[in-house]
Amino acid sequence: MAKKWVYLFEEVEQAQQDIGGSWDAVRGLLGGKGANLADMVRIGVPVPPGFTITTEACNAYLSSGGLFPDAMWDQVLAAVESTAAASGKRFGDRHNPLLVSCRSGAKFSMPGMMDTVLNIGLNDETAQGMANLTGDTRFVYDAYRRLIQMFGSVVMGLADELFEEVLTRARRQAGVKSEAELGSDDWKRVTQEFKKVYRRHTNHEFPEDPFQQMKMAIEAVFDSWNGKRAVDYRRAAGIADDLGTAVNIVCMVFGNMGDDSATGVAMTRSGATGEKAIEGDYLINAQGEDVVAGIRLTQDIQELSREMPEAWRELQAISAKLEQHYREMQDVEFTVEKGKLWMLQTRDGKRTAQAAVRIAVDMAEEGLISKKEAVLRVTPDQVDFFLHPQFDPQAVAQARRDGCVLGQGLNVSPGAAVGLAAFDADLAETWANENKPVIMARPETKPDDVHGMLASQGILTSRGGRTSHAALVARQFGKPAVVGVAALNIDLRKRQMVVGDATIKEGEWISIDGTSGQVYTGQLATIVPDIQDPWLIKLLSWADAFRRLGVRTNADYPADAERARAYGAEGIGLCRTEHMFFETKRLPFLHKMIMADLPIEREEALASLLPFQREDFIGLFRAMHGLPVITRLIDPPLHEFLPNQVDLTNELTDLKIRIKVAGTLKEVDDILQNIREKERILRRVQSLHESNPMLGLRGVRLGIQIPELTLMQVRAIFEAACQVKEEGLEVHPEVMIPLTSHCNELKVQRDLLESEAKKVMQERGVEIDYKFGTMIEIPRAALTADAMAEHAQFFSFGTNDLTQTTYGISRDDAEGSFLMTYMLDKILPDNPFATLDRDGVGELMRIAVEKGRTVNPDLECGICGEHGGDPKSILICHELGLNYVSCSPFRVPIARLAAAHAALREKPADEAVPEAGTFPKSVAGAQ
Ligand code: PEP
Ligand code: MG
Repeated sequence: MAKKWVYLFEEVEQAQQDIGGSWDAVRGLLGGKGANLADMVRIGVPVPPGFTITTEACNAYLSSGGLFPDAMWDQVLAAVESTAAASGKRFGDRHNPLLVSCRSGAKFSMPGMMDTVLNIGLNDETAQGMANLTGDTRFVYDAYRRLIQMFGSVVMGLADELFEEVLTRARRQAGVKSEAELGSDDWKRVTQEFKKVYRRHTNHEFPEDPFQQMKMAIEAVFDSWNGKRAVDYRRAAGIADDLGTAVNIVCMVFGNMGDDSATGVAMTRSGATGEKAIEGDYLINAQGEDVVAGIRLTQDIQELSREMPEAWRELQAISAKLEQHYREMQDVEFTVEKGKLWMLQTRDGKRTAQAAVRIAVDMAEEGLISKKEAVLRVTPDQVDFFLHPQFDPQAVAQARRDGCVLGQGLNVSPGAAVGLAAFDADLAETWANENKPVIMARPETKPDDVHGMLASQGILTSRGGRTSHAALVARQFGKPAVVGVAALNIDLRKRQMVVGDATIKEGEWISIDGTSGQVYTGQLATIVPDIQDPWLIKLLSWADAFRRLGVRTNADYPADAERARAYGAEGIGLCRTEHMFFETKRLPFLHKMIMADLPIEREEALASLLPFQREDFIGLFRAMHGLPVITRLIDPPLHEFLPNQVDLTNELTDLKIRIKVAGTLKEVDDILQNIREKERILRRVQSLHESNPMLGLRGVRLGIQIPELTLMQVRAIFEAACQVKEEGLEVHPEVMIPLTSHCNELKVQRDLLESEAKKVMQERGVEIDYKFGTMIEIPRAALTADAMAEHAQFFSFGTNDLTQTTYGISRDDAEGSFLMTYMLDKILPDNPFATLDRDGVGELMRIAVEKGRTVNPDLECGICGEHGGDPKSILICHELGLNYVSCSPFRVPIARLAAAHAALREKPADEAVPEAGTFPKSVAGAQ
């Protein structure tokens, strides 16, 4: 028997059998539209009769260079017969003609990318027959001219303007403004004119034979699969090129047959908010494209209840039925022809992040889907939406049209921010204090820019990568940030920044989108989502019940810790204690400590820092009472706390010039003193200089070199813990040593630090439940994890450094240079500083967890690098059996959901939850 290329809508069961039973395969064969039309017929929803020519036929046609496969056309003719019989009309019959539409329909929706021809079957004879039958000549000739117009443009590739010119002339001649006012004679004339246009520009007559029309339309739809629009769309959407499109031939039904006819589009729930109420637009006495084209002002679908109560009731019932069947919000097209409702399409509806959350939760509560499915249906990106203001999509579209896009950088901290460009931290802070919104724009940021960053709405840099200082701080504080906009030239002297032809002066408005990485000139409108959204809160509580990974936060200040706790953090996974040293009151003491020549000077400086650190930790322990708090001892190289060598040299040169022109002795004295102090600092900066500071005196090496510093920190931690415990709160400090590479480093530090901890507890007479542990940031530490675990109760993977040290790629520089090329050229699949490198860094982590737990089965393992907030990396952490991930407060809700996804996706195949919409109930039952 010949291969079956054509399926009537009522033959869906057979299609399913032929293709092996899976609904996904049926969609592959019949296309999404064809499969769903047939599926609607199966469940008793009114769909005009019709049939689908398969995607296999399309592929055979395309690969043969444009020939229908054997037997396909005969099957089409037979299907036309059956369709005509079902409609009570005949195709090409001059008395009672059947008209059909010919529509594309691929497996995945490609809106507007391929072609459609309506009203196939009309010619001079059938038009006359139809006019006799309906008594509505105007309607018939309007339909006829639409056929010629669509056929001309879709099948023959004629420009729309050729037809538009005729229409404009017709309106002018009739003395009317809109097409709706043209009468039957006008449309008859337009039809003849259209035929002339067709003849003149194609050198052929318009085909009067309905079968010829159908054949050419099918060929055009097949060909449109390889049209430029469709190919570009597939590239962008990641749709495979070999799927092909199906063709749906469907009996025409008309929404423009008078005031008892209408056409419209609707969503079964609100695509904007998710509210359970049908949402959509319709037009009385109109055709489908009139609604979508926006030529006529459409009516709100709720009006239908007044204008066509019968059709409205039926639409409501069908909506409910479709939702029950697909267990998803549906986006439908419908037509009412002389009071009779027909459904022309159904598919899963597109929605905003808010709507996605609400629909998932509501559907679970209605019993349509399980809680697991609800959790799986919401993506981590959709949760991210709730945490930051976003640009209004219309404002973005307008900005693009107006040419206001300034550049593109790395989208390192999501959210939209609008403000006046300020090019240094002090000015940013001053303006913010005057209640002016500010975007701080710098070539890059340094620790002493933090006050400006905190005061700003958002941060923009021309250099730096995903783990640059600007990116880390921005994420931690939830500030939108775009970094590494290489095209941006910030001229601090002229107080302006230049991108291409555009120059932005300090104080001018700019808008940055940390979600997309785009930068705009001017003020774009924003919308502010609500993190307290009750549906989101419920969804995340369901997610918590499914996840195995704990979720902690990276927080340095009590306010961040409190926020993170409110977002669901279950502890602090990383407090970078050195960040606190940058506060204006503390930095002088740290300087003093670094500059000290005598041990007594150093001790004095440290003694002055102790109360500050103690207060910091008291705040953190109070905020996190009952939960673990990991404080990491000082990590960065000391030169980071001192002024920059180049700046110092410049300042000295400046002073030496000024002294020559000094007016008074006192002035000379002051400048001299200043010079001496600066020279002293410069000498220390020079002595601390290292060619490779990231591999130099930092982390545990500092602790070993300057034990007094880490002892002070441990004392501060334990004094704080004792005090908070005395206040009646539960405390669980965990002290973490950074950048260890050899177990002996850990042993030496642990002995020293534990004895200090014990001393404090004895002094206070308080017992604290604590842990000592280490970061794993160097491959050697991972490879010798069994030895490390002898001296550590926990490991925390510092994957920012571990990625840097595994790849031998500088985390601060690479993203601004060759790494981008690596990603564009697909040398690396992902940015390893954003998404864990499963095969390299991930493998080291696996070895470390495994070896560590052979020595200490209870070894607590977590991650505190930036990857801890990245969904793909969280999946790897889950698979590695980590105990928790730790991320910035603003990523905690995302991590909760991603951790639940990881756990749910791990279930054996028979328990796996189907993707939304792929297994309609009836089909699932049939399998
Ligand atoms: C890391 O290296 O992953 C880490 C968390 O430490 P930092 O980023 O402070 O070096
Ligand atoms: Mg590190």
